[in-house]
Amino acid sequence: EGKKLGRNGSCFFTKELNDKLSRRIQLENDLRYCVEKKELFLEYQPQIDLTTEKIVSAEALIRWNHPVFGRVSPGEFIPLAENTGDIIKIGEWIFQDVSNTFQKHKNVLKDLVIAINLSTHQLRKKSLLTFIDQLILEEKINPTNIELEITESAMMDNMEDNINRLEKIRQRGIKVSVDDFGTGYSSLSYLLKLPIHKIKIDRSFINALDTTPESGIIIKTIIDMSHNLGYKVIAEGVETKEQIEFLKKNNCNEVQGYYYSKPIKIEELMGRLT
Ligand code: C2E
Ligand code: MG
Ligand code: MG
Ligand code: MG
Repeated sequence: EGKKLGRNGSCFFTKELNDKLSRRIQLENDLRYCVEKKELFLEYQPQIDLTTEKIVSAEALIRWNHPVFGRVSPGEFIPLAENTGDIIKIGEWIFQDVSNTFQKHKNVLKDLVIAINLSTHQLRKKSLLTFIDQLILEEKINPTNIELEITESAMMDNMEDNINRLEKIRQRGIKVSVDDFGTGYSSLSYLLKLPIHKIKIDRSFINALDTTPESGIIIKTIIDMSHNLGYKVIAEGVETKEQIEFLKKNNCNEVQGYYYSKPIKIEELMGRLT
């Protein structure tokens, strides 16, 4: 079935590999037009304060409705968009869409913080700040309603520039959180150097709580360290009552995960506020 053997007898071509490759090529190609063709949309996943049990913020998560492949996950297409450079245009669309949502539902959303994921490539661009400043200047976004989620590895990449850029972002009143904390294999020294507000414990640690008790030790340590440094802590990927109990007992500030809600449409999110 579509298999060919190399001269040394090894298999260098399979149908699966070919399918994967052609899907990738097709996606990379179509990324160029996904904004104009209005194929992107955002879902929002609530972030709940563990002491009040209220929704205090929501993470914007991008979705792509591809005309042929249907729903393509951001885990698949964001890395491709970083390669092709389309992430810049897509990233700007995200800010614009969030800003439209705020304008449309000003009264309901006025106290909500929306967390926007920033990719390495976006953070590296000088134009990011100009773009954000423009939105603030035109009163399209209120900086105190915005938080930026940046992964540990993106933070570490080009530290000197990032310190500068993130400092300016903080001066605007925008909050910054460290996404997927604990998975970056990086030195912790950046925690002292970068202006951040919140640490997001990666869901792999929360997930492991059920099977590996040691994971609890790591979670506790992350929470204590973050608090001692003056940062809030949110746990990602919380799915069970037991995980919630553990996190409450250990003073985690917020949670996000299927236990409370999957990512949902903005209308549904608004229905759950108050
Ligand atoms: P992330 O920023 O760490 O987002 C959390 C991911 O975990 C989301 O997957 C979310 O749907 C999923 N999740 C939330 N709660 C649970 C849970 O309880 N259990 C499990 N198993 N999963 C849960 P999603 O939406 O597929 O996004 C995957 C990644 O793609 C994100 O990870 C982020 O790195 C990237 N991404 C998503 N949207 C954007 C975006 O707008 N811009 C950029 N640059 N990256 C994005
Ligand atoms: Mg995130
Ligand atoms: Mg994350
Ligand atoms: Mg992630």
